[in-house]
Amino acid sequence: MADTFRALRIDKTDAGQTVAIVELTEADLMEGDVTVAVSHSTVNYKDGLAITGKVPVVRKFPLIPGIDFAGTVTASTHAGISAGDKVVLNGWGVGESHDGGLAQRARVKGDWLVPMPQGIDAAHAMAIGTAGYTAMLCVMALEDQGVAPSSGEVLVTGAAGGVGSVAISILSKLGYAVVAATGRTSEEAYLKDLGAASIIDRAEFNTPPKSLARSRWAGAVDVAGSTTLANVLSQMNYGGTVAACGLAQGMDLPSSVAPFILRGVKLIGVDSVMCPKPRRLQAWQRLATDLDLEKLDHLTTHITLDDVEKAARDILAGKIRGRLVVDM
Ligand code: NDP
Repeated sequence: MADTFRALRIDKTDAGQTVAIVELTEADLMEGDVTVAVSHSTVNYKDGLAITGKVPVVRKFPLIPGIDFAGTVTASTHAGISAGDKVVLNGWGVGESHDGGLAQRARVKGDWLVPMPQGIDAAHAMAIGTAGYTAMLCVMALEDQGVAPSSGEVLVTGAAGGVGSVAISILSKLGYAVVAATGRTSEEAYLKDLGAASIIDRAEFNTPPKSLARSRWAGAVDVAGSTTLANVLSQMNYGGTVAACGLAQGMDLPSSVAPFILRGVKLIGVDSVMCPKPRRLQAWQRLATDLDLEKLDHLTTHITLDDVEKAARDILAGKIRGRLVVDM
């Protein structure tokens, strides 16, 4: 009998979307030239949307969710990837239109895989996950625009969430003065441990945005979008840069052109899913050097596959602090 493995699987019936843990064999997986024994996965905000069905993230049924995984290659016909290689996967539509990482096995295109960077193991790679790798892409976007530690304070919104927690850790290690905007002011000690210099209640960014407000920030990492991003834009210093990656508050952007044409503010969009391979490799190399693994451990909670459905609901409710690692 073929070897079986455990997987979370989403299906769609006339009654709606169902989610269950099932036993599968490798013959059940979608096509790809590399098979991986997944040791760790994670639950990102997008996985929360997929598993709860709140937003139609999943585009094929049945499908294994999970936009990230880390593990060891068991079989490969891809040039340059061999059995025994340690690898990480983020995005590329995995967990959306291709079977994902919330299973003990995955089969994907070898081109999608990143070799595990030196100094990072599979558990830490998933503590980073798409959220942490996106945080790194945001920091790189600020650097590309000349935002340096000497430029002034940098704001991080959604501070106690996954992207926010990792962004604070990286920025503080690089020497930036980081201000953390959070709705969970009770997490002040946690955020200061990660390296935030001070905390602001996110309610301050939820008022009707002015075209321009008092200049405060040299740079910002925004995960919220909507009214929060509009307020952040209005508060940027002359020539400041916002790296925008999320929509935790909403997709809309009730702003004006004033910050752009009167203060030369730059709004840089950050996408992790289709990010070209050279930039991904650079981000993962930077994570290996610019993220303190002790801080990463501090912001990580380990769960099992049986806990994932609840975690999916909790992440959308803003109840998850930092990052989740699923021990497969
Ligand atoms: P988390 O759920 O871990 O964190 C989101 C945080 O946003 C929450 O913890 C909360 O922080 C804050 N938040 C929630 N609701 C609101 C609101 N109504 N107004 C203002 N802030 C709010 O998610 P992630 O960090 O993993 O992801 C954050 C966002 O980034 C998501 O929208 C996600 O889809 C997006 N994303 C985009 C990627 C890309 O490629 N562009 C990749 C990864 C993520 P607090 O409790 O501190 O207030």
